[in-house]
Amino acid sequence: MRILIVEDEEKLCDNIALFLSNEGFTVDKALDGEEGLDLALENTYDCIVLDVLLPGLSGIEFCKFMRNEMSSNVPILMLTALGELEQRIEGLNAGADDYLPKPFDLRELLARINAIIRRNQTLSDGRVLYRELVLDSKRHLVHLRGEELELSAREFSILELFLRNPGRVFSREEITDRVWETGYESRSNIVDVYISYIRKKLENRGLKDLLETVPGFGYRLKELP
Ligand code: CA
Repeated sequence: MRILIVEDEEKLCDNIALFLSNEGFTVDKALDGEEGLDLALENTYDCIVLDVLLPGLSGIEFCKFMRNEMSSNVPILMLTALGELEQRIEGLNAGADDYLPKPFDLRELLARINAIIRRNQTLSDGRVLYRELVLDSKRHLVHLRGEELELSAREFSILELFLRNPGRVFSREEITDRVWETGYESRSNIVDVYISYIRKKLENRGLKDLLETVPGFGYRLKELP
């Protein structure tokens, strides 16, 4: 797991970095917003710990840039000043996943980082975790409890679409557009047929009710509780 810390108080930055490397994370440090942003654009992180008050580019601007300009969904934990309600609200509105007021206990920082990484479910190597499923896009494989799930290319693409967007409803048209080549004339029930194939393969392996039907619209992947 790789983490970026953007914090201009050098001592605090070093303390966090040391603590997290002892916990087994690979840690990169930046002492201002611009340096942090350069690193964030160059590398893939499992989480970014971001101070809100930074020289130059602020944590809020950093966050907005990642979410709006880069369409990045990297988990961001914002460090705010104690009692600064405005900062917390601004941070969450800018797209931070969580915040932690200073001063904090490093063990709480670790717990928050682990919680937002779990929620995000996408690892820095591109694999997606969902319940007992692990999807590896590079190798075009899905494992269920460590065993490979045999899927056709189309089934894989459909399952990947859902696993990357838990809880989002996809219409049949959108699934057709995203999984079949452009210009493909949607046959009436092609998506339903493929969804039923995938459901059957999952159910045969004991994973039930993963893909929900949304009546009159389409399908969605059940969100994790
Ligand atoms: Ca600061």
